[in-house]
Amino acid sequence: MTVSPWQRRIQRAQELAVQHSFAAEILGFYIHVARFQEDLHRRLSAAFPKPPSASIGGELSAAELSQLSARFESFLTLAETHGPQQLSEMSRALRARGQTFWSELLNNSWTNHSPSDAQGFLAMAFLQPYAELLRSHGKLTPKEHTYALCPFCNRKPGFGVLRQMGDGAARSLVCYFCLAEWEFRRLVCPACGEENDRKLPVFTASEFDYIRVECCDACKTYVKTVDLTKNGHAEPMVDELVSAPLDLWARGQGYAKLQNNLLGM
Ligand SMILES: [Zn+2]
Repeated sequence: MTVSPWQRRIQRAQELAVQHSFAAEILGFYIHVARFQEDLHRRLSAAFPKPPSASIGGELSAAELSQLSARFESFLTLAETHGPQQLSEMSRALRARGQTFWSELLNNSWTNHSPSDAQGFLAMAFLQPYAELLRSHGKLTPKEHTYALCPFCNRKPGFGVLRQMGDGAARSLVCYFCLAEWEFRRLVCPACGEENDRKLPVFTASEFDYIRVECCDACKTYVKTVDLTKNGHAEPMVDELVSAPLDLWARGQGYAKLQNNLLGM
């Protein structure tokens, strides 16, 4: 039996919730979100068997918006029921705004590359399976930049992954929205292109010894990279989420995260 990417993420979240009780609440919420996303992905695949791959760059079409906004209410109900308190209250208020407002919010979030508020992140979490669907039908066009942007949707990477390659390990970066993964040199800052390794300190903590906090002292940003050569069992997106104490630490050192994840953390 093939296990879907969502099922793998859910299983990993269940395991991690047992290991890290401080994260049990947020992981519990994530599990609800992932189940919803899998169902939405299935519905959208059926509604758009040949999705228009160009639409990742522009506005959503009327057909896309009507499919999406029709499901948004259930997502808001989910966030109201299972989300942390602030998110729950915001979702209840959003639910009262109605479908015209939702369509506008979804379309804005689709075209805006970096959400700035909780409402924007919630909309992005809802839209994420559709971005993933389009990407799976689309083509990745690598960018010629020294810094890192998603080769499919031009957004910033949410995290990195180290995979075994020959005798060493190669780094790739993963788009926080469409989840495209592309190779990116290890000793280059993905935010500013800095290549001086003395300005690129890497930190780890014993609690998450397979997660590297890769910092840049030139632009004061960081990205977390999940080292799959040390922990082949990790599901990078979920392990990134649960290692929030590393984000707290990095921010305390004056580094800003290159791109917050879809829970806004
Ligand atoms: Zn992308």
